[in-house]
Amino acid sequence: INFDHAGLHPVMRRNVELAGYMVPTPIQRYTLPAIKMGYDVIAVAQTGSGKTAAYLIPILNKLMGKAKKLAAGRPNPATYREGIDPPSRAEPLVVVVCPSRELAVQVFNEARKFCYRTMLRPCVVYGGGPLRDQAMQLHKGCDVLIATPGRLGDFLDRPETLTFRRVRYMVFDEADEMLQDDWNEEVGKILSGGEQDEGNINYMLFSATFPKAARDLAKNHLAENHVRLR
Ligand code: AMP
Repeated sequence: INFDHAGLHPVMRRNVELAGYMVPTPIQRYTLPAIKMGYDVIAVAQTGSGKTAAYLIPILNKLMGKAKKLAAGRPNPATYREGIDPPSRAEPLVVVVCPSRELAVQVFNEARKFCYRTMLRPCVVYGGGPLRDQAMQLHKGCDVLIATPGRLGDFLDRPETLTFRRVRYMVFDEADEMLQDDWNEEVGKILSGGEQDEGNINYMLFSATFPKAARDLAKNHLAENHVRLR
């Protein structure tokens, strides 16, 4: 099996090729069809397995067909004039939550490859980075938001910067790292941010281990017929 058989949008097919990926990794072979068919997914995935592309490629691929419609009426970052044009909120379609700034930036760099020449705009926000610059990024618009839990919680507290109104995919990458006690409050806030529209959100959990907190998250938020991969 190669990427030609994955039913990818031509732009995504090309972006995969530009990334230099010739054949899907084992985890990608499972996630491509599962996500395409609309299943929630739990995957036991180590770094190095190609897990990032395993969710980014099928999720972004699904959104690509609808990109024109999604782009209607939103500001164009290329012509956005700071201080002149009214700020708009980020209304991401995809939220990827990562436990560390390093992982968030890595995921963002992958997302940029796959969003190339599409209407989809990736954005990354993380703790320790400049809040004002990140808020400005969000104001310019963002379709694919990659974030650490603390900073994401900060922005959710400022609804003039960010709303989960349009979220369709919520991914927890290295979920076990985030489901330690000290992140409970933030993760709870993020999940309840999505709850207003639960029926329309696909949840994905990628994790090296599955402690009780991860199993609970899966039980409470993933569809009953989710797909488990290991
Ligand atoms: P990850 O597990 O997401 O951290 O990915 C590990 C590395 O594998 C990254 O450098 C990716 O760019 C690369 N990678 C992901 N999928 C593929 C693929 N299908 N073929 C070749 N390299 C890949």
